[in-house]
Amino acid sequence: MSFLDYAPAPESTSILHLKDSYGLFIDGTFVAGHGTPFASISPATEQHIAEIASASAADVDTAVAAARKAYEKTWSKLSGSDRGKYLFRIARLIQERARELAVAETLDNGKPIKESRDVDVPLVAAWFFYYAGWADKLDHAGLGANPRALGVAAQIIPWNFPLLMLAWKIAPALAAGNTVVLKPAETTSLTALLFAEIVQQAELPDGVVNIVTGAGETGAALVRHPDVNKVAFTGSTAVGREIAKAVAGTGKKVTLELGGKAANIVFDDAPIDQAIEGIVNGIFFNQGHVCCAGSRLLVQENIHEEVVDRLKTRLATLRLGDPLDKNTDIGAINSREQLDRIRELSDIGEAEGAERWTAPCVIPENGFWFAPTIFDNVSTSSRIAREEIFGPVLSVLTFRTPAEAIAKANNTPYGLSAGIWSDKGSKILAVADKLRAGVIWANTFNRFDPASPFGGYKESGYGREGGRQGLAAYLTTAAAAESASVRTSGYSRARKQAETRTLAAGEGEGK
Ligand code: ADP
Repeated sequence: MSFLDYAPAPESTSILHLKDSYGLFIDGTFVAGHGTPFASISPATEQHIAEIASASAADVDTAVAAARKAYEKTWSKLSGSDRGKYLFRIARLIQERARELAVAETLDNGKPIKESRDVDVPLVAAWFFYYAGWADKLDHAGLGANPRALGVAAQIIPWNFPLLMLAWKIAPALAAGNTVVLKPAETTSLTALLFAEIVQQAELPDGVVNIVTGAGETGAALVRHPDVNKVAFTGSTAVGREIAKAVAGTGKKVTLELGGKAANIVFDDAPIDQAIEGIVNGIFFNQGHVCCAGSRLLVQENIHEEVVDRLKTRLATLRLGDPLDKNTDIGAINSREQLDRIRELSDIGEAEGAERWTAPCVIPENGFWFAPTIFDNVSTSSRIAREEIFGPVLSVLTFRTPAEAIAKANNTPYGLSAGIWSDKGSKILAVADKLRAGVIWANTFNRFDPASPFGGYKESGYGREGGRQGLAAYLTTAAAAESASVRTSGYSRARKQAETRTLAAGEGEGK
């Protein structure tokens, strides 16, 4: 140990009072599931955390029935301000239990505690506060006259931001007056179950929030349930395509937030020190398990060498290891399956001729780990430049002119996010205007705010989450209902099918 090394600073897990096993949360109580239970493990140590129930199709049916009953009997009868009070209460309980939630998230997901503590959990509370404020102002959201809830929302979320994705889904749904059945990802159910306890603590009417744990079949049963009015999904493009097909022609409203392969464009007039930090944050935040990660660095040719050298120097200082340690920058990869995928695509990158560089770090013996990696001189046709790796792997490409940067940035089946680094405001605006991406950051990256809509173009999905636009996904207006009844059902079916075709046309995985 040199004198510059950090002493271990592990966050204590004594704040957690986990049960040995967790049931499904249906109609306000925890009940047994009828599927085969499965274990949630810590990806950093591979240690068993708790046994999680799996919901069968019959359990999903019970959960949807509970949500329907709650929608009709209680939730839709409450005023917006009363719904808002419940949401404010949930937001405050999240703040009160913030440390416990952060520790649980880090234990179950593998992300560094400094991220779950300083980013995920504060954003979760912010999301509930933000939508609590909207609950009694739906008439003023500019979404049309007399906005009304849709009914029961089926919500399926991934493992990369378990609690944050839950907040993105549940907060707007409840504010708009819907009830929900949410399915967390199978490797990260824990914080959704702690959230169920918060729902009980907040004395939310029974059945307004239901949590069904399980794998893909549970999700498929939920999406296909005939009494569901709305489907909201965040996950891979492959599953998004299946869901789009499953709901086509059913009249269910859908939002899909899928994969990404964001370009982070650095011009030679950029503030280089900040850009280096932004590149690191863009791809190594949350081990790169981020749908909007800046996984393709597009750097102007004349500063390419300088940027790559400085990046390597910076990456060599990142600390990989125990996610519960407050000094850890890079935590564990969420699952063995995901680690295998990152390894496979990285090996392909090398075989395709890109120059591989790996940050010098000691990999712990147990658990799933992947050291921060850069691929330089990547060609646009290379698989690592086209497919979502969903790990701490950066592909570096170069460009000479803004037009070339734009062409390369848009040369992807995805369109979720992008970043631009330059000290010229006019250049940033001109380039941003031509990028086909839902979110564009200028001189920053991976910034989230509940007031800002988030969503994709092309294979990154459709619909927006966050902001007023996020409310629209959970509402219908008198005008919309009327035009839907005037329109032949064939029209909406044709439109849905067209959307499905667009999605089905491309390739790639991601979220
Ligand atoms: P990943 O490949 O990264 O696990 P997925 O898209 O498979 O991403 O998973 C995202 C979420 O979708 C998870 O909660 C998962 O259980 C769920 N899921 C997987 N397959 C299906 C399906 N066919 N229908 C509905 N949900 C599914």
